Amino acid sequence: MNRPARLVLLGSPVAHSLSPAFQNAALASAALAVRYEPIDVAPAMLGDTLDALVREGAAGNATVPHKEAVFARCATRTAVAERVGAVNTFWVSGGELHGDNTDVGGFERAVAALTGDAMPGRIAIIGAGGAAAAACVAAECCDAREVRIATRTVERADRLAERFPALVTVYTALEAALEDVELVVNATPLGLRDDDAFPVAVEMIPADAPVLDLVYGPGETRWVRAARAAGHRAADGLRMLLEQGALAFERWFGFPPDRGAMSRAIHERTGRLV
Ligand code: NAP
Repeated sequence: MNRPARLVLLGSPVAHSLSPAFQNAALASAALAVRYEPIDVAPAMLGDTLDALVREGAAGNATVPHKEAVFARCATRTAVAERVGAVNTFWVSGGELHGDNTDVGGFERAVAALTGDAMPGRIAIIGAGGAAAAACVAAECCDAREVRIATRTVERADRLAERFPALVTVYTALEAALEDVELVVNATPLGLRDDDAFPVAVEMIPADAPVLDLVYGPGETRWVRAARAAGHRAADGLRMLLEQGALAFERWFGFPPDRGAMSRAIHERTGRLV
């Protein structure tokens, strides 16, 4: 694979994203002249945008709502991206688009940072979208015994569970889904707004279970703060964001980024250390 001529983040919206800040810090640290730019692309324009990026020999990330559409457009995908059914990291080689999903590795690393240990055996995930699918693949790769999905739209959760028959079960009752779990994950957007309801009431979370909120923003979510106040180890999605970005950088350039430079860029914008 050639070095990318251009690096982009395709999403809508993308203006809020922290990825340009920490990717550009890593690029500057490695003395790479290329810049990482966010591009707000409406779904109807994605095909034309990807055609242009292929011609330019670009690479980049895809975020909401484009991960499945970029997956469909790739000529080849890594085994992990195939298992998730979504691509968040792409590049061009031989005039064709290729894709990976580094949310899986990002989730794995975020869990390890939170628990200080291996993937817990029994995990509850609230939500059944793309982030939940990446978490299921990470759980599968790390030999978790059981993943329980609790969500408001059961059909979507059923479709996800069908792809992991030995691992994933759909629960309609939150109380049963949370019983004896060793990790609780929020994979819904709840918490993006400060007045959002909690994904699950903190009192329902088993006493020793760590809490990982995939939502991230400049500050931690209210749910993370409430869970920590109740004695749980708890983290938001900022670490996962950094880790998926570090894995994407390595995919594009073949060497790992300067993690210190990435962390400092995040600290400058959020005041937080990850
Ligand atoms: P998605 O594909 O749209 O799926 C969202 C899931 O949440 C769906 O199951 C949806 O259910 C459910 N949901 C949405 N609004 C809800 C509400 N008000 N109450 C209850 N459930 C609700 O989104 P995604 O890509 O999985 O992303 C989910 C979250 O994870 C986002 O906030 C995203 O920013 C975050 N994320 C973080 C990282 C990271 O690096 N930290 C990476 C990926 C994603 P329905 O089907 O019923 O709508």
